[in-house]
Amino acid sequence: MAEYLDVRTNYNKELLKEAAKCINDGKLVLFPTETVYGIGADGLNEEAVKNIFIAKGRASDNPLILHVSNIEMIERIAKDISPLEYELINNFFPGPLTIVLNRKEIVPNVVTANLDTVGIRMPENKIAHDLIELSNTPIAAPSANISGKPSGTNINDIFNELNDKVDYIIDGGDTKIGLESTVIRVINNEINILRPGKITYEDLSKFAKVNVSSHVLKEVEKNDVVLSPGMKYRHYAPSTKCVLVYSDDQDKLINKMQELENDNTLVITNDNNINKFKNAIGYGKTLEEISHNIFRILRSVDKENKELVIIEGVKTTGLGLAIMNRLIRACSHNYIEL
Ligand code: AMP
Ligand code: MG
Repeated sequence: MAEYLDVRTNYNKELLKEAAKCINDGKLVLFPTETVYGIGADGLNEEAVKNIFIAKGRASDNPLILHVSNIEMIERIAKDISPLEYELINNFFPGPLTIVLNRKEIVPNVVTANLDTVGIRMPENKIAHDLIELSNTPIAAPSANISGKPSGTNINDIFNELNDKVDYIIDGGDTKIGLESTVIRVINNEINILRPGKITYEDLSKFAKVNVSSHVLKEVEKNDVVLSPGMKYRHYAPSTKCVLVYSDDQDKLINKMQELENDNTLVITNDNNINKFKNAIGYGKTLEEISHNIFRILRSVDKENKELVIIEGVKTTGLGLAIMNRLIRACSHNYIEL
């Protein structure tokens, strides 16, 4: 049973002292960020970080992101930072962007899965920022979920799953964005998107040429070289079978979804289309609303006991690329594009 701190309405930094002590004592703290909730531990404490992998059932070759509160902390754990990387840090930190940098020796191998690089992010969320600052150590924190499940975007959704696996829970209400950070790596002065998120291809293109990893929308094949190990794994998936459908032509899209629908299906669709189906729930109207709601909705579908969940896809521009990356995985690459 974890200790529980509710800071949804009343928050001040003082309240986090006990949670920061937990981090410094090598314990696990579930905390909010602007993207999703994280399971945090002292990122420089090897034993503590090992416990994150155990709590999540996470594959040991899937590296963790270190969360920092200032630039000095970045320079404690990373080296050879290029002018372009500093420019990206100055423009997007704090915020929902993770940069993969060359790591220093101080970072334990267990964090980076033995890679010579480390993923670094500076959260904008006040609670996350203050927790890192009070602990005065980079906090290793993967998304708060048992590996394979949708990431947690509010405590209600993940309490039963993680309550007995962590030492301390900080409830900060719904996370603002709802999708994990954009993960990038700069190679030869070009930006490579390893995982799309709120910071988009279009945002990054203002700074350098941007390449999108082919695994963002495609399944990883057996002999593929993957820049981001996380892409190899099943993720975000409900137990119920799901299919994702998309077409640029809205009529075609709706027709196909109607064709797949029967008395034993659930449709997840834009709020504007709910009345076109027998049994549907809306995931919002805008891309921002969809990203905010999608993990909560994916977590709820198993309760409906349906044979099939039919999910409406979105265009892969802007935030749409991140949404489709998560939905394709939620559907285990069961995707119909018309
Ligand atoms: P999570 O924290 O569960 O959202 O997952 C973190 C993501 O960042 C995974 O997809 C990892 O593969 C990726 N990541 C973390 N560190 C690195 C790194 N050093 N190189 C490449 N990808 C990384
Ligand atoms: Mg995750």
